[in-house]
Amino acid sequence: MDFRLSEEHEALRESVRDFAREAVAPVIAEHYERHTFPYEIVRQMGKMGLFGLPFPEEHGGMGGDYFALCLALEELARIDSSVAITLEAAVSLGAMPIYRFGTDEQQARWLPKLLSGEALAGFGLTEPGTGSDAGGTQTRAVLDGDEWVINGSKAFITNSGTDITALVTVTAVTGTNPDGSKELSTIIVPSGTPGFTVAPGYSKVGWNASDTHELTFDDCRVPAGNLLGERGRGFAQFLRILDEGRIAIAALAVGLAQGCVDESLRYAKERQAFGRPIGNYQAIQFKIADMELKAHTARLAYYDAAARMLAGEPFKRQAAIAKLHASTVAVDNAREATQIHGGYGFMNEYPVARFWRDAKILEIGEGTSEVQRMIIARDLGL
Ligand SMILES: Cc1cc2nc3c(=O)[nH]c(=O)nc-3n(C[C@H](O)[C@H](O)[C@H](O)COP(=O)(O)OP(=O)(O)OC[C@H]3O[C@@H](n4cnc5c(N)ncnc54)[C@H](O)[C@@H]3O)c2cc1C
Repeated sequence: MDFRLSEEHEALRESVRDFAREAVAPVIAEHYERHTFPYEIVRQMGKMGLFGLPFPEEHGGMGGDYFALCLALEELARIDSSVAITLEAAVSLGAMPIYRFGTDEQQARWLPKLLSGEALAGFGLTEPGTGSDAGGTQTRAVLDGDEWVINGSKAFITNSGTDITALVTVTAVTGTNPDGSKELSTIIVPSGTPGFTVAPGYSKVGWNASDTHELTFDDCRVPAGNLLGERGRGFAQFLRILDEGRIAIAALAVGLAQGCVDESLRYAKERQAFGRPIGNYQAIQFKIADMELKAHTARLAYYDAAARMLAGEPFKRQAAIAKLHASTVAVDNAREATQIHGGYGFMNEYPVARFWRDAKILEIGEGTSEVQRMIIARDLGL
């Protein structure tokens, strides 16, 4: 057993940490306040190879692994979650389905742009009427000659409406299975396809410098060859993508939780009350000790899930545990960091205010905490 990072992983972690501190921290508060997408940061992350981290070099990737992506996400989220979720969604929800399930032609067409960060892809599973119950998908795709005709809508889709969004993968009902259940398939819809409309961005509580839209498909026609993988495999595909994605979200949550420790430590040493730095009071010390404890255990949980995944072992339960624990810890740490900052914690100019706004979605996106408990219980045989 060895939890220490390899030299490559440690070097990556340090370079992303430096990048987050030097290139993200100085500009992100303004993007957040103005709700603008940080194109320049995305461009720089592309140059660093972050969008290609877990993909082989023959596709234009960096030849790293999924754990490397998780480390990068943790370090980014330690400074800002909008930037981290942009990378997480671009890699694990955007490019990964094409890498895992795409034909040679689809991979050759899309992966080089996606892995360089020159283009982004969205993953359209959730709909206005159904999220956790993805089997309730209403969007339909009908084969008409050599084209799919898609009708329906998708809700809350990350990276779906930026100037550099190249496509969304959309889950749709394409028929009925022999047992009467819906046949679900995944189809690639390039941006700008007639009948595909991207609504204006949502007004969100957090992740304000990330890109999220509702999408509608109105007799939207794409070539039959845009089917991703086999027809009828949509359900299995998104379960795989979400299982992996949960490890990445857990890493992001650990980053936010650790960022709360960083900011609280700094503030506790500076802020004076009753003639002493507040960090001299045991009540504050214990809060920070508990925050560090939680960030550390959540980190071990995602390391464990990632190690199992990379070893080719079952990891569904461990990924759900990591996501459930890390998102809970992120919310806890954000609440305590705000408390430690007193009234200043409620002011947007302090990073902890952003952490507090950004933490809650981690208990909702890519499977709510209730869904994670359902997965764990089912895996235990219930
Ligand atoms: C900012 C943002 C970005 C997102 N990005 C994407 C994206 O890129 N792609 C994408 O496809 N989706 C995306 N989502 C959607 C997200 O994954 C869903 O919001 C999430 O899965 C929950 O679905 P829902 O909102 O429909 O809630 P619902 O499924 O309606 O759940 C409502 C509540 O009921 C609970 N619940 C539901 N079923 C059960 C049950 N059986 N037992 C107990 N409790 C239950 C839930 O846990 C929750 O508390 C994003 C969401 C947000 C807010």
